[in-house]
Amino acid sequence: MNYLPIFLDIRDQPCLVVGGGEVAARKCAMLLRAGARVTVLAPSLNAAFSADLAAARIVHRATEFRDEDLAGVALAIAATDDDAVNRAVAAGARARHIPVNVVDQPALCSFILPSIIERAPLIVAVSSGGASPVLARLLRARLETLIPAGYGRLAALAGAFRDQVKARFEPAQRRRFWERVLQGPIAELVYGGREGEARKALQETLHDPRLVISGGEVSLVGAGPGDPDLLTFRALRLMQRADVVVYDRLVSQPVLDLVRRDAERIYAGKERAKHALPQEDINHLLIRLAKEGKRVVRLKGGDPFIFGRGGEELDTLAAEGVPFQVVPGITAASGCAAYAGIPLTHRDCAQSVVFITGHLQDGSMNLNWPALAQPRQTIVFYMGLIGVDILCRELIAHGLPAATPAALIQQGTMPEQRVLAGDLETLPRIVREGGVKAPTLIIIGEVVKLRDRLKWFEPAA
Ligand code: SAH
Repeated sequence: MNYLPIFLDIRDQPCLVVGGGEVAARKCAMLLRAGARVTVLAPSLNAAFSADLAAARIVHRATEFRDEDLAGVALAIAATDDDAVNRAVAAGARARHIPVNVVDQPALCSFILPSIIERAPLIVAVSSGGASPVLARLLRARLETLIPAGYGRLAALAGAFRDQVKARFEPAQRRRFWERVLQGPIAELVYGGREGEARKALQETLHDPRLVISGGEVSLVGAGPGDPDLLTFRALRLMQRADVVVYDRLVSQPVLDLVRRDAERIYAGKERAKHALPQEDINHLLIRLAKEGKRVVRLKGGDPFIFGRGGEELDTLAAEGVPFQVVPGITAASGCAAYAGIPLTHRDCAQSVVFITGHLQDGSMNLNWPALAQPRQTIVFYMGLIGVDILCRELIAHGLPAATPAALIQQGTMPEQRVLAGDLETLPRIVREGGVKAPTLIIIGEVVKLRDRLKWFEPAA
């Protein structure tokens, strides 16, 4: 270890920044965030300083650096492009045992500044010890994605209850209590911005710790259309701490591969007319698992609230008092449209977009055809493959031109994605002759024509 990592308390301490450029402004902003009293020494100041200057958060002195400027200073930073000045600051500070940093010159520094991930009061600092600041920044970016934005608020909540919890539990129990709280439904409430409820729940668990020690939960998580890159941070986090994952047929293998290795996986997939588990059984399964104290992730293709029967599953969970949350996912329409280069709305040709199910009931499709067959509207059919003949025929019968552009997107966002384009007249034949298979989305409307210009990237078939 070439450096000792420490966190310095500089609140209300006088700090000196020498230099008035953009880099100096960034360092100055950092010192201000930590509550320092900052004096900036520079002939003139970059515009980046102006807000702090106007608000009198900093003192500006337009003088040359002299050694006396260091008197009484708790910490100094030199960020000028004049090597002699930088050296003078470094030498003067060292002689007075003042911690000093010279930007981009590790040899002149007595301390270096790490890349930070801030979730105040929580701070993660990353440093390559000066070897590769870029690498440290890349690592920082990766950590940013792993640490929920609400972690700071969670830390603050834990801080507020620290003394009470300490008084209530023995050390071993206390650790277990915090581990469960900080990884359980209470933490999820905080991440979801529901701190008031989290506070109340925490208060209740103090009276009855069994609530948190044994409580399970269900997260209804949207897994997106297939490409694992389209998962949300929250989805990934929940998948990686799940005890059990109940998933649908639409959830892609690359997404499933991101589930915690030790988690139990239960397939509850649905295929047309061949349900692996009836809906009622899925509802009861979720309740049973949660009541066993498990952290259950109910993983659904796309978004759980779009043709996902998410509402029904939640109904039973709510009735049974099982804590739950819903994590939105990218729905097939958004994913397929983006990956196929078809904007769903466009100023020139579509002011509205309708997501509709083309699922057949008793061999027919009972839809509001006049409302669908409107000009300047994009129609996205989910589950429309089997009924493609009917839907094309009805749309034409209700006034859409037979030449209205239409596209089929099979396995959208996956490496196997196929896009077949035609119009209302030709689409049924394209399905028959193209050997199109589920899952396939159908997009109908003038926007489909834009694809010729906008398909900048399409995974090879
Ligand atoms: N909740 C899901 C939709 C479930 S309904 C969502 O929000 O996306 C199932 C239908 O979604 C399929 O019949 C198909 O029309 C569509 N679909 C889902 N994933 C798809 C994909 N990767 N490519 C094409 N269509 C898809």
